[in-house]
Formats: sequence, C-alpha cells, structure tokens
Amino acid sequence: MKINENYKTLETSYLFSQIRTRREAYEAAHPDQKVLSLGIGDVTLPLAKPVVDAFARAVEEMGQASTFRGYGPEQGYDFLREKIQAYYQRFGVELPLDAIFVSDGAKSDIGNLLDLFDTDNTVLIPDPVYPVYRDTNQMAGRSILYMAACLENQFLPMPDPGQRADIIYLCSPNNPTGAVYSREQLQKWVDYAREQDAVILFDAAYESFVQDPSLPHSIYEIPGAKECAIEVCSLSKTAGFTGTRCGYTVVPSELVRGGLSLQAMWLRRQTTKFNGVSYPVQRAAAAVFTPEGMEACRQAVRQYQSNALLMHQALESMGIWHTGGTNSPYLWMRCPEGKSSWEFFQFLLEQAQVVGTPGSGFGQNGEGFFRLTAFGTPEDTAEAMERIRKALG
Ligand code: PLP
Repeated sequence: MKINENYKTLETSYLFSQIRTRREAYEAAHPDQKVLSLGIGDVTLPLAKPVVDAFARAVEEMGQASTFRGYGPEQGYDFLREKIQAYYQRFGVELPLDAIFVSDGAKSDIGNLLDLFDTDNTVLIPDPVYPVYRDTNQMAGRSILYMAACLENQFLPMPDPGQRADIIYLCSPNNPTGAVYSREQLQKWVDYAREQDAVILFDAAYESFVQDPSLPHSIYEIPGAKECAIEVCSLSKTAGFTGTRCGYTVVPSELVRGGLSLQAMWLRRQTTKFNGVSYPVQRAAAAVFTPEGMEACRQAVRQYQSNALLMHQALESMGIWHTGGTNSPYLWMRCPEGKSSWEFFQFLLEQAQVVGTPGSGFGQNGEGFFRLTAFGTPEDTAEAMERIRKALG
C-alpha cells in the first residue's frame, strides 16, 4: 500500500505548544506573578442570549416526535440560507440561495474546496499566513508560490502580472496581520484572477470587524468577483461560534472553469461527503441574523473592537509600527530594537508578564514581527498594554 507521502513534507506545528511550554515554565518559576495573554485567537465572550434561546428551543424540538428532524439538506436549511442571503444584501450583494452553502466552519471548507481542483495547479499564498492554506495544499502535493507580505506593501501583497497562478488565497481582514484590502486593491486582484483564469479563495472570517464604510466586507462587492471568487465565512468570530461550529461558503453560478460549474461541483462534493450541520446549530446560527441577535453579537464585537482600539492607540503612542487593530481583532507590530519574534516574546514574558504570538510562526516574512489579539477582557487588555509600555520604558 502507498500512503500519502506529502504528509512527510508538513512541518510539525510547534508554535502554540512552544508558547504554552515557555509560559508554563515562567509561571512555575514565578508563581506570584500573573501572566496576561494577548496571544489567543479564540473568543472569550459567551454566545448571545437570543442565540442560546434559539439553540435550546431547537434541542427541545429534537426531543418531540412532532418536531423531530433527521437528515437535513446538505447545503443547509433555507431558514438559515435566507438569513445569510439577506445579510449579504446589506453590503449590496445579491446572491441566489443556490450559491450559499452552510458548513461547520471556515476551516473545513478551506480544506475541502481543494477537492474541486487538480493537484497540478499552482497556488499563490501570502507569507505570513493562516497556516491552513499552506498545509492543505502541501497535503495534496501542490506547488506553492509565496507572495511576500511585508513593510513595503503594508502587509497587503498585490498581483504581479508576470506571475502565473491558478488558485489564489486572500484573507481580509487578515490573520495574522490585521491588514485590510481596499476596494481598489481587491479590484486589481479580481482583474488579475480573471486574466489568469484563476480562482480566488477569499477568506472573510473577520468581516464583522470592518468598521470603515469604505472598506469591503465581501469580495462580491467588487465588480467581476462572481466570475472568479469563492468566499468562505464563519460565525466563529462574528458570533462566538468557535465551539458551536457554523460557517458558510458562497460559490456563485457564474464561476465556471474547464467547462464545469464550480457551484455544481461543490454541490456534488457536499452531497457526497457531507451530511449537513446539526439542526439546533443552524437554528442558533439563524438567530445571529435576527435584529436582536445581530445587536447582541455586535455588542460583543464592539467590546473586542474597543480593546483593539486601545491597543492600537497604545502602540501608536509608543511609536511602534503596526497594522491592524482598527478593522480587525489582530494587531501586527514590529518588534522593537530589532529583536527577533522569539526574542521579543521572551522579553515581554519576562519583563511584562504578557504573552503574544511570534510573527515568525506564520511564515518567513513574519520574522521580526509580533501578533497581539483583542479577544481578552477590557481590564486585562488595558493592564497588558500598560505593562508593555512600562517594559519598553
Ligand atoms: N480563517 C481564518 C483566517 C482564521 O483565522 C480562522 C480561525 O482562526 C478560520 C478561518 C477558521 O474559522 P472556523 O472557526 O470557522 O473554522
């Protein structure tokens, strides 16, 4: 038998385990000190009340013969897809229901979408990057080209017309850098993808953090995007669904490659390999999009946004170069005094008892940078920034 040898090429992900090990070693040696974390990429606030109520009602329904539900539609119940459709209308984007596929989260879809593409395609991925884009392609043995996200381009790489590409990953607002593409920049990507006959996989997991009305929430706000882009989105950060699991992917009918409709292919793929998201989770997700649900979820996002603003202002006042923080829960800062990412990690841990994420863990171009997240409590966030200020003197 032959196994998938491509797994041998994957790097073992040491990043978060190494962070944990270093933090635990420090805490064991200094039991009297309280370490604060600005490192986690997970939400901390609970599900909103209207969401929990809908979730509980649906669980009750499952326990009654008259309201019990078995297998649901693989692409999601219409009651949820209609809500998602209406949500997109707020950005001026019209989507037929057939284009919307409900999933158990963005990560699964990001990996599963690759079923639609031959392994012979060339993939364009930013560096630094959410590691899932890289690893899922490496597992399939695709050749990957990296585009440098760096100071010179404000961590927003743009297309190089001389570069061939078939599958292009864009994430905006970005994890880890918090950088957000403008409409004009996304238009250049859409034009490039159409010229190349490429497909953009657009990760909008952090769209609900966009506050600036001039910035796009969805790639479909850009003319021509329906002919070249698939959009993956998630309720994880919008509504605290990291543990509840629900997201959605949009595959427009206009997207045709090699004579085949990618929407028809994705439907075929999902109906073959996926049996849908559980009914109570879809009811909970639908409650996110009701007026009360939206308001309650927005309140949580506002708390994270206000943490991010405080962090942004603190870094600004310290004169530290950074991106993100205004339309994103992530801040990406340059390590002071030319320190490497891990040197700065250790410095902050020892001098400020604050934990963040070394940028080098997200790719070569992350070296010398550091990611802070706004998902903590307002009190811890304020104290952590004050400690950083003191440590940097
Ligand atoms: N995309 C990006 C850029 C992320 O940072 C994350 C989670 O951290 C995901 C997707 C995964 O989202 P989900 O929880 O919906 O699987």
